[in-house]
Amino acid sequence: MAYLSTRGEAPKISFNEALLAGLAPDGGLYVPENMPRLSPETLRGFAGKPYAEVAETVIAPFLDGALAAADFRAMLEAAYATFRHKAVTPLAQIDDNLFVLELFHGPTLAFKDVAMQLLGRLMDQALKARGRRATIVGATSGDTGAAAIEAFRGLEQVDVFILYPHGRVSDVQRRQMTTVAADNIHAIALEGTFDDAQAMLKRFFRDKALREELGLSGVNSINFARVVAQMVYYFTSAAVLGGPMRKVSFTVPTGNFGDVLAGYMAKQMGLPVEKLIVATNSNDILARALATGRYEVRGVHATQSPSMDIQVSSNFERLLFDAVGRDPTTIRALMASLDQSGAFDIPPAALAAIRADFAAGAASEADTSAEIARAWRECEYILDPHTAVAVHVARKHLARDPATPMVALGTAHPAKFPDAVRAATGVSAPLPAHLADLFEREERFSVVPNDEQAVVGFIRARARAVTAQHGG
Ligand SMILES: *Cc1c(COP(=O)(O)O)cnc(C)c1O
Repeated sequence: MAYLSTRGEAPKISFNEALLAGLAPDGGLYVPENMPRLSPETLRGFAGKPYAEVAETVIAPFLDGALAAADFRAMLEAAYATFRHKAVTPLAQIDDNLFVLELFHGPTLAFKDVAMQLLGRLMDQALKARGRRATIVGATSGDTGAAAIEAFRGLEQVDVFILYPHGRVSDVQRRQMTTVAADNIHAIALEGTFDDAQAMLKRFFRDKALREELGLSGVNSINFARVVAQMVYYFTSAAVLGGPMRKVSFTVPTGNFGDVLAGYMAKQMGLPVEKLIVATNSNDILARALATGRYEVRGVHATQSPSMDIQVSSNFERLLFDAVGRDPTTIRALMASLDQSGAFDIPPAALAAIRADFAAGAASEADTSAEIARAWRECEYILDPHTAVAVHVARKHLARDPATPMVALGTAHPAKFPDAVRAATGVSAPLPAHLADLFEREERFSVVPNDEQAVVGFIRARARAVTAQHGG
């Protein structure tokens, strides 16, 4: 299967090439040329199957022979063996017809692990096949960095440099990044803000000479392989709730739109989904866009659900591409308008197409806390603030459509956000056993000035892709 760019000005490439490239050179996002379909019999067969087996059936059509079936199966088994729950992504019921899909049983307690554990292994094999090394540089405000470090630790072909704002991430988040003892992992505490780190990273990727010198690769949520890996749990959870004979709705706590886009793709592949509901915190660009048709950037506010504190949702471009009939000229015009004036109007036919599949809602800070308190009071179930945003929005939708089972995606373990949980419930969720000694582990990180040359120098001195190129 070939992959093409949403902006239409980059050549078509293979899965492995899209995997290593991340963003397309024309600034667009890669999408599959055609969407594979799974038959109703295949979907019926998912009931009672292990997670890795369903994953193989769902993902294999996208790989298009990039690796042998047996190797892929072994890779999936290894990736999901890092999860502490045998079911990998189990469902918990918290009200009539309302379920939380627990995506946080991976090594870093956030749903990013589901995709990243597979992405690390896929990249390693793609690089080995090419006899290449790569340097992964990421900027993080918390969850993505930790998930990338866990996924790439100890891999032979890849060195990882994660920039995080010094003194501005939570203790749990920082320790998850700095206590991994692997020679290919480098945590950089940048003397600046997250925006400084992000802006620096964008400049690195735009610098063609540097990109080639370091063999730069990205693992942010626009990497198509991450979206594909996230489709699997829509299939497994629907199978538990009676799919495909019965439709299911999903409410997804949304930031960059990767997770909910995976639900949309699952529907395109044939999964009967009633509605996909985009849940946002007070950074509600998507909820406003669906309500009004105008996608308009405003300032970011800090909330209890920081992984959803975003200004633009990059993956939304993939949905728009489909909604405008896969016309790259329209996408280029809308994105130019976004760059120039911070806004664009979704064409009316595209908006109607989006509304056929999606609904949206926002939760305020007070709504979020009230939801954490309610789930604790009613079920002794502890929600993290991101999941609580989804549960709040899910309940509103369920009131209008009580017959369709509603799955709210649980994207983080409550132990990752102890302050919000304690404030709402008076209790705290303990860290799972594998992280219980997190605060005793030795930290390794380097404080680097907020200066591009200083950061490049640091990376150059340590990235094995550079040495390999110079014959060392
Ligand atoms: C990344 C993240 C999200 C948002 O997911 P997107 O795919 O960016 O929409 C939600 N919750 C948590 C805990 C996350 O880490």
